[in-house]
Amino acid sequence: MAVSPIDPVKLDKLAEVAIKVGLQLQPGQDLVLTAPIAALPLVRRIAHHAYKAGAGVVQPIFSDEEITLARYRNAPSESFDRAPAWLFEGMASAFSGNAARMAISGDNPMLLSKEDPDKVARANRATSLAYRPALEKITGFDINWNIVSYPNPSWAKLVFPDDPEDVAVRRLADAIFAASRVDIDDPIAAWKAHNAHLKDRWTWLNGHAFSALHYTGPGTDLTIGLADGHRWKGGASEAKNGITCNPNIPTEEVFTTPHAQRVEGFVRSTKPLSHQGTLIENIEVRFAAGSIVEARASKGEAVLNKVLDTDEGARRLGEVALVPHSSPISKSGILFYNTLFDENAASHIALGQCYADCFVGGTRLSQDEIAARGGNRSLIHIDWMIGSDQIDIDGIKSDGSRVPVMRRGEWA
Ligand code: ZN
Ligand code: ZN
Repeated sequence: MAVSPIDPVKLDKLAEVAIKVGLQLQPGQDLVLTAPIAALPLVRRIAHHAYKAGAGVVQPIFSDEEITLARYRNAPSESFDRAPAWLFEGMASAFSGNAARMAISGDNPMLLSKEDPDKVARANRATSLAYRPALEKITGFDINWNIVSYPNPSWAKLVFPDDPEDVAVRRLADAIFAASRVDIDDPIAAWKAHNAHLKDRWTWLNGHAFSALHYTGPGTDLTIGLADGHRWKGGASEAKNGITCNPNIPTEEVFTTPHAQRVEGFVRSTKPLSHQGTLIENIEVRFAAGSIVEARASKGEAVLNKVLDTDEGARRLGEVALVPHSSPISKSGILFYNTLFDENAASHIALGQCYADCFVGGTRLSQDEIAARGGNRSLIHIDWMIGSDQIDIDGIKSDGSRVPVMRRGEWA
């Protein structure tokens, strides 16, 4: 058997960080874990650390790229309007029983790029609808959850197309380890320091209680009103079940909820958006009264328009996030084709569903109360990058006064 190009010590540290920092898994807590089958070596280390932390039952649920493709190439048309609702209902019931949730990302982001876009859209919609009971417990932050990544060969070859597979996998693995802060001696201490730094940022933003942010730069003059009673957060935060977790590993962002009706102006994307197998480049949109009224892209425009037509909330914003241009992921210069990484390379906005937890007392608010404060609702949540070293951001207070927040992509 060939020797794996992935450093086993760092892989083990990633698993340990996922359990101890990402989830802070508690003794007796069950864990629902989804992963590509290629990530089995990481899943095994995660199970090891989960049980050492006192896990009840660790239940992995695997997917496989070839099985996914087999469906697109052989299944009858009706298949694409279906989804395993029973599985998602089971997940929702596990979360109601306080199970933690971990997802390992690592599939080839371009897997479906050559498949029928109509089938892809229908399957996504069916899955989104069926997944909703489980997803609402995640977006409502009922339980501790976490996403980490594994360098699948198919993903590695997309990021480093000129390298042989083992070199590409090693390079992607090293980039994941560095971004996830497990390439240093004491990753747990490093995460503590990083979380404290992010907390300084969101504490400052909450202190100013801005009513809007104003972005200016090439192709961009955008005012994003913030939701009433919004709060900024980032890094570690406490789920409704009382457990403090780090949902995303890596993470560099501080973020909050924009007001779904108060976004005006135009904005240009600064990095390509990889969306379910399609690369959407140079997005240019115009907002009026919170909704996208014009949308263009130099590549992938048809897919962008399909996304915007998902539902009423798909044209409105559900998240605004600030990331300095000098973030380690941005400095790596790598385009990962994976939102978990690429969104942490630049300031971004997200179309679609907002996070209830980005409101003061948000986890106790009903859906109607969240909507009344300006929180958006949608089947989608898609982040795309609008930050660069040419973007300035001002915070606008309710009396109209302005405070510099970022200058040329860095904290002012
Ligand atoms: Zn974000
Ligand atoms: Zn997001």
